[in-house]
Amino acid sequence: MSAFLTVTIEDIEAAARRISGRVLRTPLVTSTSLSKLCGVPVGLKLEHHQTTGSFKLRGATNAVLSLSAEARARGVIAASTGNHGRALAHAARTQGSVATICMSHLVPENKVSEIRRLGADVRIVGSSQDEAQDEVERLVAEKGLVMVPPFDDAAVVAGQGTLGLEIVEQMPDLTAVLVPLSGGGLAAGVAAAVKARKPATRVIGLTMERGAAMKASVVAGRPVLVEEYQSLADSLGGGIGLDNRLTFRMCSELLDEIILLTEAEIAAGMRHAYAEEREIVEGAGAVGMAALLAGKIKIAGGPIAVILSGRNVDMGLHLRVMNGETDPFREEAA
Ligand SMILES: *Cc1c(COP(=O)(O)O)cnc(C)c1O
Repeated sequence: MSAFLTVTIEDIEAAARRISGRVLRTPLVTSTSLSKLCGVPVGLKLEHHQTTGSFKLRGATNAVLSLSAEARARGVIAASTGNHGRALAHAARTQGSVATICMSHLVPENKVSEIRRLGADVRIVGSSQDEAQDEVERLVAEKGLVMVPPFDDAAVVAGQGTLGLEIVEQMPDLTAVLVPLSGGGLAAGVAAAVKARKPATRVIGLTMERGAAMKASVVAGRPVLVEEYQSLADSLGGGIGLDNRLTFRMCSELLDEIILLTEAEIAAGMRHAYAEEREIVEGAGAVGMAALLAGKIKIAGGPIAVILSGRNVDMGLHLRVMNGETDPFREEAA
């Protein structure tokens, strides 16, 4: 037995059985334009069509269903206002639980109402993400609510890994998978699944230059903090946690490479998705296409799968990017 916490192919297969019929099995389609550009078949895994608009529903659903009936009845809790918050709200409501989502006063009203609409009990406290997290810990201690973390959790990683199982079934001859990377729950799960089934397949993590916490941590050999800036790939923001227990080690061992993208490259990926593939994809979901377009992926002679991980982009921002803006957050980063 491994001395370290990890997620195995058996855990991922069990997650797939558990969440089957409760999340969408998303299509994998061939991109004519990217296949032509790369000279090998390029398949797009359309996971941005997942219910709630991102893959995070897989991990959240598996985490909620893995709880005892009694814990599920007490309820789950998190501090995320983004895709994890949406996913947990929906997973809880549809699987016989209730999610409490804590957020600060600074979170815009549209995000608050979206998470409320998905059935969560929203608690607005303090003026920072840290204060929202303190409230989470208080409610865990006081009411026995179960915290479901966005990435560093075995049930969450196993749930995200089900995406890797589907990709291998849908594209059995694949030679590489391009995976958006932030805290590493998606990349760890997908890499564990794909490497178990097809050990020679390369699994490549992609993230933005602005605040690449996993890349800096892998280079340093331990979890480190990086400076954060606003990015088109806002869902890739945030650190990996200095007390990371699971995803840092799994990503260090399983990822073949981590590639960084500029804001202009991410914008080009979003525009390609819209103009060529007719898909609305958020910045984080466009990094795989962006890396191919930028010529940053070494083509090894066989089919490539690209994960489009989410579509929850502010439509005003999307329109600006479609109209040619390449770096809407430049001033913040300067
Ligand atoms: C959360 C998220 C990611 C990154 O997932 P991690 O498990 O944190 O690495 C990528 N894309 C989208 C759309 C996300 O919501």
